[in-house]
Amino acid sequence: MADPKGFLNHGREVAESRPVDVRLKDWNEVYVPGSLLPIISKQASRCMDCGIPFCHNGCPLGNLIPEWNDYAYREDWAAASERLHATNNFPEFTGRLCPAPCESACVLGINQPAVTIKNVEVSIIDKAWDGGDVAPQIPERLSGKTVAVIGSGPAGLAAAQQLTRAGHTVAVYERADRVGGLLRYGIPEFKMEKRHINRRIEQMRAEGTRFRTGIEIGRDLKATDLKKRYDAVVIAAGATTARDLPVPGRELNGIHQAMEYLPLANKVQEGDFVAPPITAEGKHVVVIGGGDTGADCVGTAHRQGAASVTQLEIMPKPGEDRAPNQPWPTFPMLYKVTSAHEEGGERVYSVSTTHFEGDEDGNVQWLHLVEVEFVDGKLTQKPGTERKIPAQLVTLAMGFTGTDRENGLVEQFGLELDERGNIARDADFQTNVPGVFVAGDAGRGQSLIVWAIAEGRSAARGCDRFLTGASDLPAPIKPTDRSLTV
Ligand SMILES: Cc1cc2nc3c(=O)[nH]c(=O)nc-3n(C[C@H](O)[C@H](O)[C@H](O)COP(=O)(O)OP(=O)(O)OC[C@H]3O[C@@H](n4cnc5c(N)ncnc54)[C@H](O)[C@@H]3O)c2cc1C
Ligand code: SF4
Repeated sequence: MADPKGFLNHGREVAESRPVDVRLKDWNEVYVPGSLLPIISKQASRCMDCGIPFCHNGCPLGNLIPEWNDYAYREDWAAASERLHATNNFPEFTGRLCPAPCESACVLGINQPAVTIKNVEVSIIDKAWDGGDVAPQIPERLSGKTVAVIGSGPAGLAAAQQLTRAGHTVAVYERADRVGGLLRYGIPEFKMEKRHINRRIEQMRAEGTRFRTGIEIGRDLKATDLKKRYDAVVIAAGATTARDLPVPGRELNGIHQAMEYLPLANKVQEGDFVAPPITAEGKHVVVIGGGDTGADCVGTAHRQGAASVTQLEIMPKPGEDRAPNQPWPTFPMLYKVTSAHEEGGERVYSVSTTHFEGDEDGNVQWLHLVEVEFVDGKLTQKPGTERKIPAQLVTLAMGFTGTDRENGLVEQFGLELDERGNIARDADFQTNVPGVFVAGDAGRGQSLIVWAIAEGRSAARGCDRFLTGASDLPAPIKPTDRSLTV
């Protein structure tokens, strides 16, 4: 145990954010660099090592949180990093981007603010990189087996790293021009600077993983040909089909899916464009969808100089405390103020878009909405509450319905889908096609980075067993596991 009185002597302190007017002028991460280190050992000492660490179960990866809290308290960063990597390939991603369901399950959180587990995690990995403690782990011998991984998001990267370290020869196929999936093209720079991905890819290359970008399996290379070339395949193609809003006026210029808008801002940061082809500059922006993707649009629009930003959500505003049906240690749906929301804009709840209105050139100018409420368990429009708000750029951030069905990948492999439209798999993450596995959002549906990494690790074990008859790789989750979180 770190310090028996840590939780009595120290309150919860989190990473310090840069002032809003300063951070809106750039795209760097919102936190003050180096602000965690002076406080993190004390914060780690708040861990009670409570005997039954519910945080292990709250974290889909089963991260060994009390163990690395102890090392962080003692400032033994190399040992902390070893414990952290025992269950998580990419703690620099989760330590920045995870909604931290572990903290919702922290025992201290029953009657006090939870341990800042996520901040401890990111401090350990940042120290480990700075101290040269993250070295490539090159396999001692090769198995002679080959694996193709389709998709380079967190699920594909985790599967590829595990399989490479198990001695297989792994090639990752990615249709985009750079690797990283939604970590690269989706999540904005101000939430995670892309240098963190680049550094990890260098480690993976040094370990032997090969990357083939700009190749879409199904279109550029037939799935059947890929299967012939490799001993096994892991599909980690994500759930990239976006939900649409088929209301009158949807065809007007200036209405875009969030994933048409956000990657262009990422590409400016990568140096591909001087200015984004779709920009919020000087415009009244409306973001439809109250979730994290919507919040990323809000932060991006503010940095591009929007005249105003309004975020609409059809559901009622969540509460600030746990509802009775979401008790500790579950992950509750609470009202969240993200860094993007601290930066401005208006959030409007319980409203539904009825139609869009444009000018004579076909450009969207107004969004018409109506208030809604639950009547007999059904969302119903409230008569007399119709109004319109200015909208010169609209982004749709209403979630994703499943993996891409247009490139032929599903049909060419002959894959079965489950009742939710995701790629079906068995207890080993194997699809109905022997030797073809699935991990991440493609099999699970739209989810989180931490689940994608857990799925990638588990599918790697299933794949390793298929190739060699046995596996020493860990499998943190079962395909059906939804644990304490989403
Ligand atoms: C805007 C946005 C913000 C988010 N923010 C967060 C957050 O802050 N925290 C969090 O935990 N989660 C967040 N999420 C969710 C998280 O990013 C996903 O759950 C996670 O990335 C899923 O990982 P994946 O590897 O399964 O798929 P993805 O990251 O979607 O990667 C799939 C990859 O496969 C490639 N691909 C698809 N088909 C083919 C093909 N046929 N051939 C070759 N390549 C192919 C795609 O180009 C893509 O690169 C966010 C999602 C979005 C959209
Ligand atoms: S990965 Fe997420 S849930 Fe797991 S310890 Fe880190 S912040 Fe918590």
